[in-house]
Amino acid sequence: MTTNAELLATYRRVLPSFVSPYFAEPISIERGQGSWVWDVEGHRYLDFFGGVLTTMVGHNNPKVTAAIQEQAAKTLHTSTLYLSPPMLRLAEQITERSGIPDARVFFTTSGSEANDTALLLATSFRSSNQVLAMRNSYHGRSFTTQAVTSHASWSSTSISGLQVNFVQGAYKLRSPFADLDDDTFTKACVNDLVQLLDMTSAGDVAALIAEPIQGVGGFTVPPDGFFGAMKKELDNRGILFIADEVQTGWGRTGEHFWGYEAHGIVPDILTFAKGVGNGITLAGCVARAEIMDTIDVLNFSTFGGNPLSAAAGSATLDYVIDNDLQGNAKRMGERFHATMAPVADDTDWIAELRGRGLMWAFEICHPGTIEPDPARTVAVLEACKDQRLLVGKGGLYGNVIRLAPMLDVSADELDTGIAALRSAISSIT
Ligand code: PMP
Repeated sequence: MTTNAELLATYRRVLPSFVSPYFAEPISIERGQGSWVWDVEGHRYLDFFGGVLTTMVGHNNPKVTAAIQEQAAKTLHTSTLYLSPPMLRLAEQITERSGIPDARVFFTTSGSEANDTALLLATSFRSSNQVLAMRNSYHGRSFTTQAVTSHASWSSTSISGLQVNFVQGAYKLRSPFADLDDDTFTKACVNDLVQLLDMTSAGDVAALIAEPIQGVGGFTVPPDGFFGAMKKELDNRGILFIADEVQTGWGRTGEHFWGYEAHGIVPDILTFAKGVGNGITLAGCVARAEIMDTIDVLNFSTFGGNPLSAAAGSATLDYVIDNDLQGNAKRMGERFHATMAPVADDTDWIAELRGRGLMWAFEICHPGTIEPDPARTVAVLEACKDQRLLVGKGGLYGNVIRLAPMLDVSADELDTGIAALRSAISSIT
């Protein structure tokens, strides 16, 4: 039997030092079924992170696995040079669901590449390299998406062809306007946006890119309607709004299919990745034809929308819709919140419980303060593992525990996870 320790030695020997596994004793997941996974040593865990919200409708989902197997036996790859039925079917599903009128979709292989495409479109459409992004954002690892990422610990370069300004408001707990009620907070952030535009921009600004709920940033949730208020100011100046739905799409937030819907707006451009392929590489960028067709030369992503990933994508989306998983996310989210809100209130080192649907986070701080406590956060992560529960970590200071159960998690599984989480929390002093 291969052991976790043997695999860790190989990991350290052949991968770069900037990737790093969770846990003091990292594990290798050998197989999964539904919400459960088994490591190479045979230990079973409840998976409430899905490899960063990417396994979305359960491991080895029978419908998705069958669609992949069926397609794999036909052809794995053809590219946009040919008329691929799986790609066209998925494109129809996504454009229809996007909410964007006269929508076109360009498939890519990662969220970073999807956001690159969105920035390429917006800067070309507006003939401007000026872009706005939210503070505490994460949009990817590529050269352009690093420029719109606002986390010192994830920003590997300051060099960019984009000129970027970062807007207030996505992360209320640490905002200078944190003490204001939601409406006044939104107004203050809009006023700041106006000042930013008046004082720091030169001519036209291309776009604001934003995650409706920040993922890597620790599931920070701005007030409902926040981006609607922002977009009014953007619309006044012709500035495009790019919704990065990489973590918030496909019903994950429960109340809505897309995160942007909580703000009463329709974005000009939408990007997606992660969950839609249930683990198969699939991402893309949706925009109305007027914007998409700004690119009037040839453009091509070799693997984007290949038949295998498209078949996985359609099967995943069918499963989400046929089983009303958005509804399940809403119900399970409410169940989670009802039990865990009192626990968070009673635990003096939990500064905030936030989220919605099946995206929940605990911000962990020194008791009674908002001073980040990354050491205690690691202890919670390890304690959850000891309880056989896999959760994620994140946040600006690495002091946020993130939970994102499968969209089809059952009430029993959720309750099992909640019990494990409660034991983990009570084991920490
Ligand atoms: N946008 C968001 C909101 C993300 O969370 C991520 C990945 N964590 C990305 C973009 C980048 O996606 P990828 O890792 O597939 O390039």
